[in-house]
Amino acid sequence: MRKHIVAGNWKMNKSLQEGVALATELKEMLAAQKPNCDVIIGTPFIHLATVSELLKDSVIAVSAENCADKESGAYTGEVSASMVKSTGAEYVILGHSERREYYHETPEILKEKVDLALANGLKVIFCIGESLEEREANKQEAVCKAELAGSVFHLTAEQWKNVVIAYEPIWAIGTGKTATAEQAEEIHAYIRSCVAEVYGAEVADETSILYGGSCKASNAPELFGKPNIDGGLIGGASLKADDFKGIIDAWN
Ligand code: PEP
Repeated sequence: MRKHIVAGNWKMNKSLQEGVALATELKEMLAAQKPNCDVIIGTPFIHLATVSELLKDSVIAVSAENCADKESGAYTGEVSASMVKSTGAEYVILGHSERREYYHETPEILKEKVDLALANGLKVIFCIGESLEEREANKQEAVCKAELAGSVFHLTAEQWKNVVIAYEPIWAIGTGKTATAEQAEEIHAYIRSCVAEVYGAEVADETSILYGGSCKASNAPELFGKPNIDGGLIGGASLKADDFKGIIDAWN
């Protein structure tokens, strides 16, 4: 059975103290009521070591939101995959549309990041998804397939075990506009078929594919009720413990 996952992406929010407070609140909530899915929180780099230590004996895993496309050396301001790993974090989110758009991360750069993350023992949450213009031109399948082919389909089946896919239609991120559960299910099923073409049906069946884009407690049960939606990558609603817990509870 593939994993059901609810993962938060704090983005560039929360001071260290605010992040510690949020992680503590979540830890206590999930200790009191065990989640029925894997829970991950993606935090800015500066939180990783402290939050990983805080959550060491909890059910919550920690993720970075990015890592460098170089191993080490004279790259001022960058944070390498091995540095992320040394904080105790287990995951890294790569390919987020905000990184692709604002920081010009190409499929080739993302491929380097994916390889370095996996080589350093991190698991990758790899984001794909189309823009509104692409959706209106009915290009969502081609866009998703090309993003997978460009950055992750070179991996071996063994490496693929450490990859989670997050389908995030750009037009639904932070906009309050959610893909309908039917729209999301349709493309998730397509993404799974692309994985099956490369790695076979068994591996595709074990691959967790998360939905991201204005997911909240009110729409999570319908989305997660679809057979090919294995959880969510959550931006805005991961910034308050009650909101995030409401989404986690959709798996109960
Ligand atoms: C995201 O950016 O990964 C995301 C899904 O954001 P939001 O939930 O705020 O739409």
